[in-house]
Amino acid sequence: MQDYPRYITPSFPPFDPIELAKMTEQIVCRGASRKYTAFYKVGVYGGISTGYTIGCCLRCVYCWVEWSRDFPESHGKFFTPKKAFQNLLLHAKKKRVSKLRISGGEPTIGKDHLLGVLEFVKTTNYLFILETNGMLLGYDQDYVKSLNKFSRNLHVRVSLKAGTSEGFQKRTGAVGKFYELPYLAIRNLKETNLEYHVACMSDPRVMPSQERNTMLQKLKEIGFHGYLEEEFCDPYPTAVVRLEKAGYHLFE
Ligand code: SF4
Repeated sequence: MQDYPRYITPSFPPFDPIELAKMTEQIVCRGASRKYTAFYKVGVYGGISTGYTIGCCLRCVYCWVEWSRDFPESHGKFFTPKKAFQNLLLHAKKKRVSKLRISGGEPTIGKDHLLGVLEFVKTTNYLFILETNGMLLGYDQDYVKSLNKFSRNLHVRVSLKAGTSEGFQKRTGAVGKFYELPYLAIRNLKETNLEYHVACMSDPRVMPSQERNTMLQKLKEIGFHGYLEEEFCDPYPTAVVRLEKAGYHLFE
């Protein structure tokens, strides 16, 4: 088994992101329980109750999340789906917001946990926003199908990292050939009743304009013509360190 990948450095060996999802699940999940560090409300989406979970299957150079992404074994406490949902609800009620999400890591890692949380959300009128890098939803079509029954309460946001395999490997640390998976996730979502939209980290400081054009072309080819949310790198302390360790100096 490969060593657990932390953050990208110039000599970083690329990893298999599906294997990393499995390795991470072994660390951050116990049965249907998953590790979180906190629950709170934030202002995005007009106000959303957020569970800050742990663990991801990519190592994006501009990632803003805490070091719990890189060292998941040292952070967080396990929460059952019921307890996680109760905490999400508590903060939603306290701050009078109608949306819920799991952030701070990749929420599709630990399928039993996510589906368990969604079973509770389904009994309410809250909207759950599933922010995903699309790796597992592209890899496992049945996963997407199993989300379909939550369509009344679910909106999926797929975040693209690259338009080419080279760009994907350079900025996520994962082996380049896996770069198609988020596009497959979008294609899989198109075949469901789920509401979704697509985001991409197309900041020209990290994604060359030619690669952005390739990404737009690929989206057209899979029949995606909807709203594209383009993201920019922000100087969060963890993002600044990760970028510098990978050899990017965006904020000097
Ligand atoms: S930016 Fe998102 S997908 Fe990339 S490493 Fe961070 S949490 Fe994972």
